[in-house]
Amino acid sequence: MNHAQLTALGRALRVLGEHGEALSADTPDGRLHEVKDDLRRALDLLEETVTTAVPSTRCAEHPTGPVDKSAPDLCLLCETRRRTARRSEFNGPAPHAPPVEPAQSRYGVRGDRPQPQQRWLPELWNGQTWQLCGTPRRDRREAELFIAAERRGPRPAMAYRLVHEFTDYEVLRVWGTPVRIDIEPMGNL
Ligand SMILES: [Zn+2]
Repeated sequence: MNHAQLTALGRALRVLGEHGEALSADTPDGRLHEVKDDLRRALDLLEETVTTAVPSTRCAEHPTGPVDKSAPDLCLLCETRRRTARRSEFNGPAPHAPPVEPAQSRYGVRGDRPQPQQRWLPELWNGQTWQLCGTPRRDRREAELFIAAERRGPRPAMAYRLVHEFTDYEVLRVWGTPVRIDIEPMGNL
């Protein structure tokens, strides 16, 4: 919505509000026709302003995508990705998928579909906030080993945590206790 549209729409809606305030049993029919015209004008303005389809989900990526009522963002696509990630998180990757017959489904077989993108982010507590302390890993085990090594290092941070980056973020595990430290004026920590 551009500024001119916003101004025009705001004015039209305020006019409608005034009509509502003034409405009474004595309101003459002529006045009601005026209300109808103003209402139509406001609707026309809205039609011009809103050019996108009504969102079916609360997902920023797939606002008009298929709906999964049980998903927090109502997005079936993202919920499917999250479920897949959770499943592989619990079960680990399938060691060796059994050989699959040539695809007979137009949706392809499991192995043909791209894997969902996900990363594991090692973070440390710097006394103020959590900050990324290493390269995000494609593998959880690798990220945990990295954090273990950091903790054994010469100057380990007070706390580390592993963040699972997917469609949304989820803290999987926290090591140590993140205590907020006030910033020293002389900055001598
Ligand atoms: Zn989505």
